Amino acid sequence: MAPTAAQGIGWIHDDFEVRRPCYWTTYCWLQFCDSNHIECHRRREKEKFWPTRVIFVGNPNKLTLVEERLQGEDYLALSHCWGALTEEEKNRFCTTRKNHQDRLQGFRYDELPKTFQHAVQVTRVLQKQYLWIDALCIIQGNDGDWETQAKTMADIFACAYCTIAASSARGWGDGFLSPQTDPPDIGAPITPSTITCNCDFNKDVDEGALMERAWVLQERVLSRRIIHFTAAHTYCECGDGVLCEQLTKLSPPYGKQFFILDPIFPRRLTKSGSLRTADFVQFLLKKYSASHLTFETDRDVAIDSLVERMAQVLQTEVRYGIFDCFLSALLLWKRSQEDKTPRISYGDRTVPSWSWMAYSGGIDFLSDKTQDLLVPRRVDLGFTDDGKALDVKVRRFGENFRVEQKGKGHVAVNGTDEVGPIWFDVADRIEFKHCVVVGMDKRDRKENAQKTYYVLVVRKKEDGVAYERLGVGKVEAQYVSRDWDAGTLW
Ligand SMILES: [Zn+2]
Ligand SMILES: [Zn+2]
Repeated sequence: MAPTAAQGIGWIHDDFEVRRPCYWTTYCWLQFCDSNHIECHRRREKEKFWPTRVIFVGNPNKLTLVEERLQGEDYLALSHCWGALTEEEKNRFCTTRKNHQDRLQGFRYDELPKTFQHAVQVTRVLQKQYLWIDALCIIQGNDGDWETQAKTMADIFACAYCTIAASSARGWGDGFLSPQTDPPDIGAPITPSTITCNCDFNKDVDEGALMERAWVLQERVLSRRIIHFTAAHTYCECGDGVLCEQLTKLSPPYGKQFFILDPIFPRRLTKSGSLRTADFVQFLLKKYSASHLTFETDRDVAIDSLVERMAQVLQTEVRYGIFDCFLSALLLWKRSQEDKTPRISYGDRTVPSWSWMAYSGGIDFLSDKTQDLLVPRRVDLGFTDDGKALDVKVRRFGENFRVEQKGKGHVAVNGTDEVGPIWFDVADRIEFKHCVVVGMDKRDRKENAQKTYYVLVVRKKEDGVAYERLGVGKVEAQYVSRDWDAGTLW
């Protein structure tokens, strides 16, 4: 039997500054999901996971940072934008070595910025006592423990009772619960069929400000369940689908959405067949690459937990955002934005030229239909043993080969013949003589001289030994040498 609003509303505290019907919806939805959606249940082996630190919100007089391992308890996790913070704000709000010991004794709710206060309210309203917020539960600063904690991020979101997505807050000062004057209709039983609603989940959530942030993608995908607090509406998302605050169940998730809603991501991928998996991997990398990072040097780490988990389940290796099981298709990335910024300077770390992580900005793939791509054997193209470079067969273009500008792009030319389009990774046109064939269209006959090769265009690095990638292209096979040299692509 559907619960009535009156049954649900009883636990809303009178002294909460914000009251919205969404509280009732989310509470009932979580209860319903717990008792009815078998797929949404927590993985048994993960039940033992508990974050290093959580915030205890069960005492109305103070909050406490807790470092004990608790069993049989639930915690919620907050997904949010950091926004533009001053150094002073960071020091005041974040947990640092300086205030860490004090916070273990307790700290005040009104010391927190509004977005965190709202997360505390939601946790209390959902009758839970523990909350995880990165800024408070990871010791921030150069002497903090971010690096060790970042490794547990996947588990933190995957094992949380629920994730609170502060979708409408662009920063910590904004909060995400707006006071609502219309009280819910407490007496009436509300069932999904009695109310219709014109909400737009894609616009509010998928195209919302929070989802533009690169870090948030893995938080979203890995979360078991999420409550999205958007400016217009509140949505509850679990393995079963999406419910809006007016209890309208949105149409069932088809396509990519189906995998994102997976409460035990990426289990659904493993059952979907390699075509849909490859398609989803490309979709995910495109989405991630186009999202924003405050520090561009986070490009290789902000998706790390997510791809590692996928590689584990897909029983493959992932290096610099390229999965071994879809090696050719993923190596054929090209930069999609017109403004081609220079390569990211990672400092001590190196990211090879063949990885899309070497540059900022969105990417596309030359071949969206991985099933149509005939790829080289493993011995001809693969990760080096240390996984940092690629073992490749380097081929040459002929004497009369050159590159010309065509419209906004470039085209390879041999004598007077057009050989095929080239996409450079950087803004400038660069002279090159070599390429690495990473695939050809399955429908092309092998003996056909005009068949198309999908290639990485490369040149010898200054050390005269290794090669580096300059871009990608589709060229006619007859202009590429049949003989080759073994090489290493960095
Ligand atoms: Zn569910
Ligand atoms: Zn709605």
